[in-house]
Amino acid sequence: MADSHSGLPPFKDDDNTHEGFPNIPVEIVSDEEMALIEAALAAAVTTSRSSSSVIHSTSSSSHSLFNTRSIHSITLLSKRGIHSTQPDIEDLGKIPITQKKIKVNESLLQRFKRNKPLAVTDITRMEWCEKQMEFSLLSGVRKKTKAMEAGIARHAMLEAEVVKKVKVQVQSIEDIWALKLLNFIVGVHQLVLEGLTRELPVMGLVEGVWIVGIIDEIQMLEIDTTKIPMLIDTKTRVRDTIPAVPQRRNGKLQLMFYKFLLDNLISDGLSIRQFFDFFSLNPHSTLSEEISDTTTSIGFTAKTLDDVVRYYINCCSMLPPTHNQLLIRYESQKDQSIIVEDKFAYDHGWLKTQLETQLQVWHGQREPECTPQEERWKCRHCQFAFDCPTNA
Ligand code: SF4
Repeated sequence: MADSHSGLPPFKDDDNTHEGFPNIPVEIVSDEEMALIEAALAAAVTTSRSSSSVIHSTSSSSHSLFNTRSIHSITLLSKRGIHSTQPDIEDLGKIPITQKKIKVNESLLQRFKRNKPLAVTDITRMEWCEKQMEFSLLSGVRKKTKAMEAGIARHAMLEAEVVKKVKVQVQSIEDIWALKLLNFIVGVHQLVLEGLTRELPVMGLVEGVWIVGIIDEIQMLEIDTTKIPMLIDTKTRVRDTIPAVPQRRNGKLQLMFYKFLLDNLISDGLSIRQFFDFFSLNPHSTLSEEISDTTTSIGFTAKTLDDVVRYYINCCSMLPPTHNQLLIRYESQKDQSIIVEDKFAYDHGWLKTQLETQLQVWHGQREPECTPQEERWKCRHCQFAFDCPTNA
């Protein structure tokens, strides 16, 4: 099994230190920006309020950069002013902790993700620093920095190169889910027909926990006449510096996780009954006319969410398993030049260990730990450093 860390320079303590820690040019941008996007997805799927999402649908216009057909996507627009009765992750910051009735033995999963999926970035943030993740959940504080905003804008730009958003009226949570699944379906169509797609939503039931994510980019490689999808992630950096080993490790974890989720969808489809049960969805409720019309324009007929789910599963099975090689591009926010690329092999054993380790904290099976001693330079960039026992 490949060592996912191989090829990376060893951690070196040199003269360039700050209070005993190396002055690593860290910036917490990429993980955060994807976390925001994924958190929005994770939150949206459990609420019936208006939210933003995309669906890829085919279009006849061509695209200049990739010589592909431009893809329409659909931004959800709630017809009625529906409001959720439970907060989503973005609302957590507005809720004083004291208002929440906390049962002593409740796990982080039960307290903060009840009836909600985890985002892949909920796992990777935990890997970055478990204590920081706990602080973030408890306080509800999540700073959006300028660097993060720039990263989000860059991802939107990349998405706009192959996806065009259009608005669609939704009338129910089933409509919202139908659109999310249609996003995937059209993204897969695009990948198969045009060799490239971006911002592909994926999900799966992993170790009993629903997990969602959004894959930055998938390219279809042609190797010896065989077509194989390859996952690519783009991370933007304020400074043109090589990211530190823990950042690169964290990025690898994220991309491996996306591959794992997509490959599971391809081989096993979706756990249908658990899906409808967990998200409290009625498989037989009639979709809005606009959603039904959208499915027709994509190439199939669907009157209910169940119809869409079945087509979704068929669509998953159209794809071959993804390539074991993965690629992360670190690019400059100044001019989008590539700073460094990480090419690495998928390491299932390492991913499984990481996932189990992080889920232990989510499940309350162990206390969140502070980042290890050799990575305490992270604390200099941590908004919770003042309260953290490590830095007391
Ligand atoms: S100060 Fe350091 S150890 Fe504490 S939460 Fe922040 S990053 Fe983690």
